[in-house]
Amino acid sequence: MSNVKFLSGENVPLEMHKVRMVQKVNLLPVEERFKSMKEAGYNTFLLRNRDVFMDMLTDSGVNAMSQDQYAAMMQADDSYAGSETYYRLEKVLQDIFGMEYFLPAHQGRACENIIAQTLVKPGMVTIMNYHFTTTKAHITLNGGVVEEILYDEGYKIKSDAPFKGDIDVDKLKESIKRNGPENVAFVRIEAGTNLIGGQPVSMANMREVSQICRSEGIKLVYDASLLGDNLYFIKIRDPKYKDTKIIDITREIASMMDIVYFSARKLGSARGGGILVSDKALFLKMRELVPLYEGFLTYGGMSVREMEALAVGLLETMDIDVISQTPIIVEALCNELIKNNVPVVTPPGGLGCHVDASEFCSHIPQEEYPAGALAAAIFIASGVRCMERGTMSEQRNDDGSERLAEMELARIAVPRRVFTLSQVKYTADRISWLYRHRNMIGGLKFVEEPKVLRFFFGRLEPLSNWPEELAKQFRKDFGDSL
Ligand SMILES: *Cc1c(COP(=O)(O)O)cnc(C)c1O
Repeated sequence: MSNVKFLSGENVPLEMHKVRMVQKVNLLPVEERFKSMKEAGYNTFLLRNRDVFMDMLTDSGVNAMSQDQYAAMMQADDSYAGSETYYRLEKVLQDIFGMEYFLPAHQGRACENIIAQTLVKPGMVTIMNYHFTTTKAHITLNGGVVEEILYDEGYKIKSDAPFKGDIDVDKLKESIKRNGPENVAFVRIEAGTNLIGGQPVSMANMREVSQICRSEGIKLVYDASLLGDNLYFIKIRDPKYKDTKIIDITREIASMMDIVYFSARKLGSARGGGILVSDKALFLKMRELVPLYEGFLTYGGMSVREMEALAVGLLETMDIDVISQTPIIVEALCNELIKNNVPVVTPPGGLGCHVDASEFCSHIPQEEYPAGALAAAIFIASGVRCMERGTMSEQRNDDGSERLAEMELARIAVPRRVFTLSQVKYTADRISWLYRHRNMIGGLKFVEEPKVLRFFFGRLEPLSNWPEELAKQFRKDFGDSL
């Protein structure tokens, strides 16, 4: 823990910023929380923010910006083509990543669209530590297949392994051999790894994967959306990098990759996204798609104001006091829950605390969406909005059967520098109450089910009147308090 500041004696995370602008939030009484959850079809995506006390749905586009980011927004150079803002951002990216070419895009999935259209041909396989929802959707849309080669420890809910996002190198070699290198569209490393609990990837693993890809002539793509968290974990969990500057770790990672892309809704606490590449031919090929899908090359779907905020935010990401903020709060939330026996993914990762719904709701079969039911129950118990990351987030098989997720998680995201420690403790307290009443939580079923990315818009119903009973129990236990 060498570089992270704690209050002495206790393991209390220390915020390295002060709050100078606030937004009032409302905490509705439990009866109204139940009512708004019902109206939202038991899908936390469909809740209205005015009914939400703490919005912990995601870390995407909801991170607090710094005063320097806001100040930079005022100096944006408005123009369709040739904006100075673009050149400022390009220079920051080239300096940080040491890669020559930059393509702007409106968010992370837009980068995935461009990369998939350029590299994926029908029947080709894309090999990765673990998929992300939008990544997989773009690859399959282009006729490709996704193969996951996470090492086995990564699938375990409880573990001491410091880098659970690592690729199993033997599985990688086997997959390349089986498919033939010419049929591999690219290998992708996602670090941190979103859907398995924000778990990091080690430098040694990236290096080994990079060497294999180079010797086989396969392109290596790096999803850097959660790079800030991953840099923090490398710095504090890998003794070899204890004294290395964050920017030097970043450059070393980039030097192993052919393409680096990111969602700036997370990385740099701004909005937008972009692709970095060193190879000119590949750059030119991907460049053709930017004006078609994003906008002219000097804005790519971003406003000049968000580009200025991003340039500053990226530089701030090179500061341990900035990137430590989410992981230490995540760790505090996990520790509070563990104290009360609530099952969570360990070790704590980046982006949020992941509650293990398969143990929390072990009485609910996967076909009845235990993680979705838990997310709805958490909202009723606390007004905290979190996200289902389990079977609901999967897509049905072609024959209509359910594709059961490897993990059933309720993800309580921690937007960067937004919530205070007392709010985090409140969250843990309410979830711990819910855990004591876990047997009251029942299953859900879809009543409206979109074919693609159903978790965004789908509507569900409880299989009994358990949500109402839960709200009544809450009132009984909490008396007049909200
Ligand atoms: C959020 C995210 C994306 C997609 O980015 P958007 O800006 O939401 O389109 C891709 N990969 C990872 C790892 C992410 O966390």
